[in-house]
Amino acid sequence: MRGLLVIVALLPLTLSSCVPPNVEETSAAEAFAEARQKMVEEQIEGRGISDLEVLSALARVPRHRFVPQEYLSQAYEDHPLSIGYGQTISQPYIVAMMTRSLELEAGEKVLEVGTGSGYQAAILAEMTDQVYTVEIVEPLQKQAASTLEELGYRVHIRLGDGYYGWPEQAPFDAIIVTCAPDHVPQPLTQQLKDGGRLVIPVGPPGCYQTLWLIERSGEQFRSTNLGGVIFVPMLGEHQ
Ligand code: SAH
Repeated sequence: MRGLLVIVALLPLTLSSCVPPNVEETSAAEAFAEARQKMVEEQIEGRGISDLEVLSALARVPRHRFVPQEYLSQAYEDHPLSIGYGQTISQPYIVAMMTRSLELEAGEKVLEVGTGSGYQAAILAEMTDQVYTVEIVEPLQKQAASTLEELGYRVHIRLGDGYYGWPEQAPFDAIIVTCAPDHVPQPLTQQLKDGGRLVIPVGPPGCYQTLWLIERSGEQFRSTNLGGVIFVPMLGEHQ
């Protein structure tokens, strides 16, 4: 009789430990992880990006957490997605290519102009612990701040016009701009350290822009054309 009681008492415990707490959640997480791995292999490595830090950052950041609910199933596809307010989260390859061009080292200080969803900021945070990002649209800034916090990324995020950079935190080793002004904002080149790198799309709104890598050496700036891109225009009074 005593033996039977023990078996009865153990039964619920044994049963509950055979079934995962939430089967659906687990398999969705696995499906996203698989899609992410495929994205890195086909869209990034497959197009010639072999920088290990960049590849592993893209393999780690859960991009699906940065896209609106209605586009979840497209989170790892080879194109940009709308994030509302007329803005977009960039195509994964563009994120990888721009990140690689920054040649970021651990511990370096980086500024992003155009936080958007926060995805690019999370990629940067995988590479250095000094990430600063500025967004001009308040609801996007708030949403990105809460996504980044939920995922445990320690990023400094501010509402403001990134045309003027972040003077209180300057100078930066690297600056990445993810919206397109029609000229290179002087405050940004001035906030680069000696040896600093700026990656920025420049061109008229709604047309192809040119992606530039601008490297500072003392008071000299060397520009390299990285190719044609399409970004949302830089907003703000200065335009
Ligand atoms: N890097 C983002 C993609 C950004 S889309 C991501 O990973 O999701 C470009 C963003 O730049 C938009 O969110 C837009 O609101 C913002 N933006 C436009 N003009 C700006 C300005 N002057 N200062 C700061 N952010 C700006």
